[in-house]
Amino acid sequence: MHGQMYPLGHVGIAMASAIGLFAFLDRHGHEPKATRACNVCRTPGLARPGAKMDRVDFRFVIVGSMIGDMIDKVVGHVVLADTLDNGRLVGHTLLFSLAIVAVGLAIWASGAHDTSTDAWPGGWPDLHVNTIALGLASTAHLALDRMWLYPGTLLWPAMGWSFPAEDFQYGDWLTILATDPIVQAGEVVGGILLIAIALRYGLFRDGAMRRFLATGRLSRAG
Ligand SMILES: [Zn+2]
Repeated sequence: MHGQMYPLGHVGIAMASAIGLFAFLDRHGHEPKATRACNVCRTPGLARPGAKMDRVDFRFVIVGSMIGDMIDKVVGHVVLADTLDNGRLVGHTLLFSLAIVAVGLAIWASGAHDTSTDAWPGGWPDLHVNTIALGLASTAHLALDRMWLYPGTLLWPAMGWSFPAEDFQYGDWLTILATDPIVQAGEVVGGILLIAIALRYGLFRDGAMRRFLATGRLSRAG
């Protein structure tokens, strides 16, 4: 009995990991000295060069942390309810997450994210950063789902093309939440992390949450 969705743990732990990663990269990465135009508002001189925390759209992290469930729950429990009824399919494979990361790297290599070239007319600033963030958050979902317990799905299709059939009841979702201490710990930790992030970035202040949902930017400057 598995295959349920526990959003607080997924979103909270992925967000905290991404913030930690980008803060670490900002502190230790090699950054050009020259000041460039801001990636967001295009105003010259305002940007802190390479400050990745300011460049990532954290909505990609939130979606990435849940994208496996968003796809597989609908496909598995609704579309395939009469056959597989399994909420962990292609969206819960390593192949799926790594393919998203690979797309991000391909965008990076193609220069399509670079507004200073005409590789992609008009460019799409930071699409590479955000696509990689999406893929890494999706990878974190697999870890939190303890997918190593289901190697046939995790390593799909290395061990065969089919996914196991399950007998899923919607009540299982609550039963697991009420009885599985790892799931409970994940939800408590995830909830605490989300509150801590909201406090640290001032998201409870007037209009700040709406601004975050509209832009995906977290900044302590505001
Ligand atoms: Zn899942």
